[in-house]
Amino acid sequence: MMNKLVEAGFKGLVIGPFSALEDPNGRRYYGPFTEDIWHEALREHIGSKSIRMNLYHAFKPNPKNYEGTEVKPIHVSGAEVSDLKWFSTLLKEAKDRGMKVYYLWMLACQISELAPKNVSEVTNVFGKGMDFLCLNTPGLAEYMKGYLKDILENYPDIDGVIVDHLEIPSYTSDLLFTCFCNACRRTADKLGYDFERMKLAALKTYRDLVYLDEKTIKKIADGEIGFSDLLGSVIGDEYIREWLEFRFETINKLANELRQVIIDVDPNLEFHIDAITTSFAPCSGVSFKRLSSYAHMINPKLYPATDLWGWRTRIKDYINLVRQNKPIDDATMFRFLEKLFGIKGLSNFSSLDELYKKPLPVELFINELEKASLLFGTKQRVRPWLRIDYAMVDEIRNMLRAVKLAGVEGVFIRNYAAATQVKLNIVKEELGL
Ligand SMILES: [Zn+2]
Repeated sequence: MMNKLVEAGFKGLVIGPFSALEDPNGRRYYGPFTEDIWHEALREHIGSKSIRMNLYHAFKPNPKNYEGTEVKPIHVSGAEVSDLKWFSTLLKEAKDRGMKVYYLWMLACQISELAPKNVSEVTNVFGKGMDFLCLNTPGLAEYMKGYLKDILENYPDIDGVIVDHLEIPSYTSDLLFTCFCNACRRTADKLGYDFERMKLAALKTYRDLVYLDEKTIKKIADGEIGFSDLLGSVIGDEYIREWLEFRFETINKLANELRQVIIDVDPNLEFHIDAITTSFAPCSGVSFKRLSSYAHMINPKLYPATDLWGWRTRIKDYINLVRQNKPIDDATMFRFLEKLFGIKGLSNFSSLDELYKKPLPVELFINELEKASLLFGTKQRVRPWLRIDYAMVDEIRNMLRAVKLAGVEGVFIRNYAAATQVKLNIVKEELGL
C-alpha cells in the first residue's frame, strides 16, 4: 500500500481515530465501509480478506495522562493490540520512505459511545441537545494536553497534529443556533458577555430568518440588499453581533490553549487546524483570519458530498429553513445563498435536483481556496481536505483542478479505503504528479 502511494506521488500520511468493521462475508455493520462506494474500493485493495478496526483511539489511553482532568478518554478494548500494531507499522513504513506523518485529533465530535467522558453537549437555542461535544466543556484543554502526550508516547515520530472539528457544528439548520449549554453560559459570564440577551437575540434571528418575506429574499438574491444591510436592519438586534463575537472568541481561546499545549509538549510539532470551507466557516464560529495567528496550516474541507458533513446537505437544509412554505423557486434560493455566503457559481444551478446530480464547477472550488488563502494570509499555509469517498468522479476532478489552479500548498486526500485505482490515477493526472 505504501509503495503504491509513493508511486502515485503522495508525500505524507494522516493517521488517527477510526472505527470500522467489515466481516469476511462482506456484511457491514458499522463505520464508513457501510457504504457501497467504500465497499467497492476496499475489495479492490484487500480482496475477500476481512478487516476490523472498531476503535476510537489509535492507542490505548494511558490513565496517567488524565489524572487531573475532568474529561476522560473512553477505554476501547483491543486498541492496545491492533491499532498500535497497524498504525505503528504504517508510521514506520511511511517514515522509511521519506513521507511526513500527521496525527488527526478530534474535537467537537459527535457524542457517541466513542466520545470522551464528562463532556457538555451542544444545545440549541430551544434547549435541545444536539449530540455534539461542546468546545466550552470544562477541562477540555487539559484533556487535550493529556491526549497529545498519549499521541506522542505512542507515535513519537509524527511530524505534526491536525486538530479536526475545532468548531461549533453548523451542518444543518437546527445546529445554526447553538450553543446555549450551561458550559457556554459559564464561559460567557467569565468573558463578560450577556448570555441571556445573546440567547434572545439568537431566538429573534431565528424567527426573522423563518419569516423573511418573499420580497426581501428576492431583493437579497438580486443583490439589492447586501449582507451587512441584512445583519444591520432586516435581521436580529445588536446582541446578535455580540453572540457571533462570543462564538469566534470561544474558538480562538481554545486554539490558543491548544497551541500552548503543543509548545509545552513538543514545540517542533506542526499544528494544523481543519475547518469547514471558507464560505460556511463563520456559521461555525471559525474565522480563518484570526486562526492564522495560532496554526501553521489551515485545512478547509472540500466536502460537497450529500451526507451530514457535506455541502449539499447543508445548502438544502438552509434553503428549507428560510423558504419554509413560501412560493419561491430553487433558483432564487440558490442566488440568495450565493449572495449570503459568497459561494461562487451556486446560481448556475436551477433546481435542488440538478444540484444533486451535476458536479459543482471548478470556479466554485477555486474561489473557496482563494478566499481561504486571502483570509489565512498566504496560499502557502492552505492545505485543503478533498474527499474521494463518493461516486461523482467528475467532481473529484474539478476539486483537484481547483487545488492546482488556486496554487495552494498541497492537499489531503481522504481517504485510502475509497481510493480505487481509477481515482488514484485521476489524482496523479490532475495534480501532475
Ligand atoms: Zn456549549
